[in-house]
Amino acid sequence: MQFDLSLDLVVALFVAAAAGWLVAQFRFRDRTPPAPSSPPQPERNGLRSQEPARRLNEDYLKGLGFLLNEEPDKALEVFLKMVDVDNETVETHFALGSIYRRRGEVERAIRIHESIMARPSLSDEHRLEAMFALAEDYFRAGLFDRAEVSFRKLAETETRRVAALRYLLRIYEQQRDWDHAIAIHNRLTALASPEQPTAIAHYHCELAEQAREGKDLDAAREHLHRAREVQRNFPRGALIRADIALDMNEPELAALLCQRFVELHPRLLALALPRVLRAARGADAGDIERRFNAWIRPEPSARAELAYAAIVAGLEQEPFVRDCLPDLLREDPSLGEIVRSVAGDPGQLTLQQRTDLALSLGRILRRTQRYRCVDCGFASASHFWQCPGCRAWDAFAPVALLDVTPGVQRR
Ligand SMILES: [Zn+2]
Repeated sequence: MQFDLSLDLVVALFVAAAAGWLVAQFRFRDRTPPAPSSPPQPERNGLRSQEPARRLNEDYLKGLGFLLNEEPDKALEVFLKMVDVDNETVETHFALGSIYRRRGEVERAIRIHESIMARPSLSDEHRLEAMFALAEDYFRAGLFDRAEVSFRKLAETETRRVAALRYLLRIYEQQRDWDHAIAIHNRLTALASPEQPTAIAHYHCELAEQAREGKDLDAAREHLHRAREVQRNFPRGALIRADIALDMNEPELAALLCQRFVELHPRLLALALPRVLRAARGADAGDIERRFNAWIRPEPSARAELAYAAIVAGLEQEPFVRDCLPDLLREDPSLGEIVRSVAGDPGQLTLQQRTDLALSLGRILRRTQRYRCVDCGFASASHFWQCPGCRAWDAFAPVALLDVTPGVQRR
């Protein structure tokens, strides 16, 4: 495999080589002269202290030479042996291990950090640093069991507690171990500001969804209650309560909860819409139109948003979509311009033309990624509460149809 030697690695190692050499020189120069009564052996003392310094410097250059010749395994062996030679090299080895990890060469990082841990003369601070670095290596390698054990030990220390707890939270999120995630989030909240304060409400919602899937609606409600305790007016909670209301054949309540969800989270109208339709169809036939009128507000921008959300949700065949489509075409300059150039005023389109156009837009959107993370740009055909790319919660929003539907915030 080609070893792509990056500039940061070369610079780090040149600095390390110079530092190692300087440290050795200072140690030689500062050596206390022997007392007059001591046996006169100045030459032998000098030679003994010079020899490791020269060997240290030679080893650095030798290791660097292997790296420059793209022989990383030989370089690694040289650097690993150097750990046994001189205590001052330890910082350099931390830097090297970190660089290996950042480059994705986790096995080499693990070997470096394990070799540091194995040193009997290591200071307590260096031992903690090595344990943390090794835990990060395990995490990066996907060895979550080993990472968890190490980070749990580090979470009991004074200096690494918060950082270790943050890693534990990532581990439990990835493993979907929501009970442990809640416990760790609570510990973090007591110590420092959590990176994502609303995450804990999502953990309770995840447990609520699991309970609902297991038909244990009482447990689901209990988890939602806890979510509400830590986060008032939590949109996801309202949506799950709507699902439970639909399960319990309470369409009025489901529609009300969906309404609340949309008020709190207007850009996710597409998630509420299928549930609103289910609620409408669960009610008396005469109520369907009345119920839906609440959603089809007269303002053109609201009608445009509704048509857009319905197409995102795959509901383009619903009759209200073709009714609202002219508003979408007027509100969306790019889409409107295309339609005007071939069919004139969007308001003059026939029923068949509006139906065909809605179906075409639905097909176009299904071939693309319909949602995108506003933080990192990760795109997906499905909505995620937590971005798989950057782990941010509540960062997914629908992509623009042709990049310009106003009224709905999209980045
Ligand atoms: Zn993201």
